[in-house]
Parts: sequence; structure tokens; C-alpha cells
Amino acid sequence: MKYPPKISVFGSLRTFQTLAVTGLVLILIALFFRGFSEQKGPEVRVLLSGDKTELSVLAPEGCDVYDMETSEHIKKNLKILRPLRVAASARGIVFGETLIRSREIRIVPRGGGAIRLDGKEYRGTIQIYLERGTLSAVNHVRLEYYLKGVLPREVNQYWPFETLKAQAIASRSFAVYRLTRSGGEEYDLSADTYSQVYGGKSVERWRTDRAVEATRGQVLVYKGRVFPAYFHSCCGGHTEDIEKVWGTRMDPLEGVKCPWCRWSPHFRWQTVIPGEKMSEKMSVAARGISRVDDIKAGKRDPSGRLESVEVLSGGKWLKFNTSDFRKIAGPSVMKSANFRIKKRRDRFLFSGSGWGHGVGMCQWGAFAQGLVWRRAESILRFYYPGTRIGKLRDAGRYDRGKTFAISE
Ligand SMILES: [Zn+2]
Repeated sequence: MKYPPKISVFGSLRTFQTLAVTGLVLILIALFFRGFSEQKGPEVRVLLSGDKTELSVLAPEGCDVYDMETSEHIKKNLKILRPLRVAASARGIVFGETLIRSREIRIVPRGGGAIRLDGKEYRGTIQIYLERGTLSAVNHVRLEYYLKGVLPREVNQYWPFETLKAQAIASRSFAVYRLTRSGGEEYDLSADTYSQVYGGKSVERWRTDRAVEATRGQVLVYKGRVFPAYFHSCCGGHTEDIEKVWGTRMDPLEGVKCPWCRWSPHFRWQTVIPGEKMSEKMSVAARGISRVDDIKAGKRDPSGRLESVEVLSGGKWLKFNTSDFRKIAGPSVMKSANFRIKKRRDRFLFSGSGWGHGVGMCQWGAFAQGLVWRRAESILRFYYPGTRIGKLRDAGRYDRGKTFAISE
């Protein structure tokens, strides 16, 4: 019987040395790429709250506070274990027991931690401004972290992964577009529905984090530039032409027929507003209206949305732009501009389709497309025809207010 020959793993000292060097090189390469993949893109400035008389700050891991007018380092490694009150005063910003005679301070967390502001945790730094006797707080945070705080507030974390990826790319494109348009203001985006809803580190979830990471740096591009990928909850059957809403033409946002959101809970809606309530709302918002006697639909655009609404008051028909009318009646009750109006005795009955302005991606449609395994790229191509996916250049300098470099 033959014994198998003895096999030496290292053979000789020389082979061992070669292996060790190769291993070391591989580890260095891995570390390099890890560092590369951890670049989090440009910094975005998000308005968290404005017109406040006071804010509460918590920093259990420690923070540094700077006066941004004098660049003075006011507090070093300050651990704030209990909510600290930051208040507006005529002489400056009151930070706990300290009066900082400045109109702008910056709070920087230690060790890459987070700051808790009014109960919510945020990565990056917090800038507090004193203007006209009130405070506003702006979060300066890297784009990729910002997106991790947006996705769970904009879509359901349990939705199909390709839908989450499509949302990540749309949200990133929207944010970067705003950065390229940003001027001398103190912030680029707000944390509410006027931009996209942002909840900071507190709302981050595992699946939405993965969707942001899987699409890192990816943005929608149209004619070589980052594209403003608007989106909304549910289109109700046809997305809206941007020109009808904001008066600007943009080929990929002319509106498409969407058969995908039919099963959305917002596909059909109804709301009843008593005549008295309607009169009250209209009289507060519009001069010359004391009573609403009747309401009728104006012209419809090709997507089925109303361009205007007419209100009968004191024997005269007054015309309102539908988006103004929605604001007056309450945008969360009048969910879209696509509705019909009926008057039943002293009540107005509105029955409509969809939720939101209707421009760009229909999130419920994207959800249904994800359910049937459509890829993120196909979902985006469907809602933004003519656009393609590009990538922000990692090493690029990001100059706010200018066009960002995109790789093909
Ligand atoms: Zn739809």
C-alpha cells in the first residue's frame, strides 16, 4: 500500500515569504477599496426646523461647539447627557448656561457619532442660526447618509428591493439636482415634503440602507446633466406633465400612462366637506369670498387632472388654480388634482384618483413593478423616459451651484 506523499503547505521558507507578501498586498487592496466605498459623496445641507424660539440638544458621546462668526472653539468635548436647551435671545444664542454672542454656531459630534436634536438623531454636524429673533437648525450631512434617512420615510422598508433601489436613485438625483441649483442660501433641502421627507439616523433601516449602498453614487442623467427626478405617492392612472404643475418643460417628465398603481389604497379617494366648512376655508384664503354656494370643475388636462376649479360666491363664478384650491381645502384631504365634484344638499362631495402632484415616478406603481421582478433601471426608464443612469465621480470636487462630474 502506498502512502500519499507528504504535502507541506509552505514548501519552503521562500514560498512562505511569497505568500505572506501576497496576503499583505491583498489586505492593502481590500482596505483601499473599503476606503473608496466609504466615500459618502457631497455634503448636503438640510433644514430641520425653522422659526423656533428654542431647541433641545443631546450629545452623550461628546461634541465640540464652534462660533462660526469668529471660528472660536467654544466647547471642547462636551458630553451632553441630558437635553440641553438652546434658545434665541436678543444678544445671541443661549447654549445651556452659556450666552454665545453669535448668529451662527456649529455642533460637531465626537468620534463620528450623532447629535440628538429635538428627540431625533442626526449624523454629520448641526448648524444653528439666529435670525430675526428665532432659531433654525440645519444638518450638514454626507449625501449617502442623507439618503439613508430619506428612504424609510418615503417608502415602506419592506417593499421589493428593486423598488427601494429605484427610490434611492430618484431621491439621490433629486438631492444632487438641488445641490447644483443651490445659491447663497443656508440650506439646499428641507426635511419635509417640500423637498423629500428626512428623518436622520433615527429612521435608518437595514433594507433601505442596503438599497442606498447598492446604488451608491448612481443618479439619473438627461442630456449629460443630473436630472430632477420628481416623484409622488400614486398617480391614479397617468402621471402628470411637469409643465402643467410648475410651468417648465422637461421631456422625460411629460407624463406616462401608468397601469401599475391600480391596487394602491390611494388609487381612489373620496372626501366630504360641509358647505359651512368650505365657506370658512375659502373666506380665510381668498378675499371677497364670504360664502361658497357651489363649486364646479374647470378644464381637464390630458392626464385627467383639473387645471382649474370654479367657485360660486355672491352670484359670481371665481376661478382658482387647482393646486391653490387643494392648498385651501387641505392637500391631505384633496389628495390630487384629479377629482369630480358633486353638491349634495349642504355638502360637497369630492371623489378623486391618486395622491400627490403626479409628476415623475409613481411610488405605488414602482412598488407593483418591483413585485413582478422588474429591475430598478426598468422602473426608472418607465417613469423618466429618455434618461439614463450615470455615476457621480467619487474623487470629484463638488461645487455647490455648479454641474457635478458624472461618469458614463
Ligand atoms: Zn401610477
